[in-house]
Amino acid sequence: MVEGEVKMYSCGPTVYGPIHIGNLRAALTADLFYRFFKRFGFKVTYVRNYTDIDDKIINKAKEAGISCDALTEKYIQVAEQDYALALMEEPTHKTKVTDHLPEIISMIEAIIKNGKGYVTKEGDVFFSIESFPAYGSLSGKSLDDLQAGARVEVNLDKRNPMDFALWKSAKPGEPAWDSPWGKGRPGWHIECSAMACKWLGPQMDLHHGGEDLVFPHHENEIAQSEAATGKGPYVNYWVHNAFLTFSSEKMSKSLGNVVNARDFLAQYGGELARMIFLGVHYRSVFDFSAETVDQAITSLERLYEAKKTAEAIRDKKILVPDMRAEQVWGGFLIDCDRARDAILDHYANDLNTAGALSEMFTLTREFNRALTHPNAANTPAAILAAGEFIRVLETEIGSVIGVGRMRAESMLEHLAKVRMLRSQNEGKQVLEADEIESLIRERKESRAAKNFKRSDEIRDHLLANGVEIKDSPEGTTWSRK
Ligand SMILES: [Zn+2]
Repeated sequence: MVEGEVKMYSCGPTVYGPIHIGNLRAALTADLFYRFFKRFGFKVTYVRNYTDIDDKIINKAKEAGISCDALTEKYIQVAEQDYALALMEEPTHKTKVTDHLPEIISMIEAIIKNGKGYVTKEGDVFFSIESFPAYGSLSGKSLDDLQAGARVEVNLDKRNPMDFALWKSAKPGEPAWDSPWGKGRPGWHIECSAMACKWLGPQMDLHHGGEDLVFPHHENEIAQSEAATGKGPYVNYWVHNAFLTFSSEKMSKSLGNVVNARDFLAQYGGELARMIFLGVHYRSVFDFSAETVDQAITSLERLYEAKKTAEAIRDKKILVPDMRAEQVWGGFLIDCDRARDAILDHYANDLNTAGALSEMFTLTREFNRALTHPNAANTPAAILAAGEFIRVLETEIGSVIGVGRMRAESMLEHLAKVRMLRSQNEGKQVLEADEIESLIRERKESRAAKNFKRSDEIRDHLLANGVEIKDSPEGTTWSRK
């Protein structure tokens, strides 16, 4: 570790289709750490990879009748656009496996030379997990547990059923590269070890991936890298973001097709997408529901409503000093300092974004409360305070979480549009008052004509669109739910 520097690596997606929101949450987690270290003055080298060769890619390219390169190039472009839409910052190096065959081959050679890998007569190369006593330490699994749980695989060439492939000999019709063991392609895990070693050296400060990668991918990376370089630990801090779940039934109806990252980003925009995901701590399971989205919209609106007021005060020309109000703003400036410290403390506590945001909401409440004092908005101190509020939002929240940096008016317009589209997606119509009145008249006539089927239909239709009706001797009244 070098003081003041951070070397970090994040396992990126396998590019055989558009990325989904699970990939997006993972990439946002890595981006969050990257932004945080940069914000607090570290020199960061950040590597994010694309897996551009694997079975899924080969099958998909065959189906589509195109080359693997053409397929992966297309979806790398799509992912790049998605990352930009999600306001992610550019990594130092964006790498892909097929650009790193020489590094992969020389790492496998080193592993074999160190007695931790072996070549079969078919030309496959395996890592021998028995040669690496620390195997299982990241995931907390012992070799015995792993073997007991392993599926019995019929591969007589393997010395131990848990040994994993470093190099796979070529099969007909598949992309293959020359190697000392004949034509073939790399196993999945070796790519990250080799790319990390090339761009970061044998050891790094932080390695990120989704929690599904803990075993076997990251376990195997440790074994390969330490076996090849003889240096350990390979990684000082592992960062794994938790899963995404879709437990709420309501969500499927109201959010539509949100599994695809592009659809999701097109629907919500980058800032709101970040608010939705980063409003929840990265290590907590993220339950995707209509409520989570609603909450994020409301939260972002609250921040931007206050920002809009602050922007208006900052641009004011008429100033009337008022002792009492100036005192209140003096107190608010102290609150701003306290909020900065508290937000930083939350970040320092395993990037607790939910905690940092809740401090920002507290400060927003204090800002709104200060404004309730008579003349508060017209005092010279208000200009200073409004500027400071905007600075805390943009610098402390904006630079790390990535929300709060837009002009308030345009963001509020965007959020209003998102709300409207969401209510349409839910299948609800916003009925106009005269439309409602005319339906109520029709219902009255239907009832008078004893057509109760029609009158019930009208009542149900109104109810389905959020309009409740009440009958009384004076007539029928309605209200929106
Ligand atoms: Zn990886």
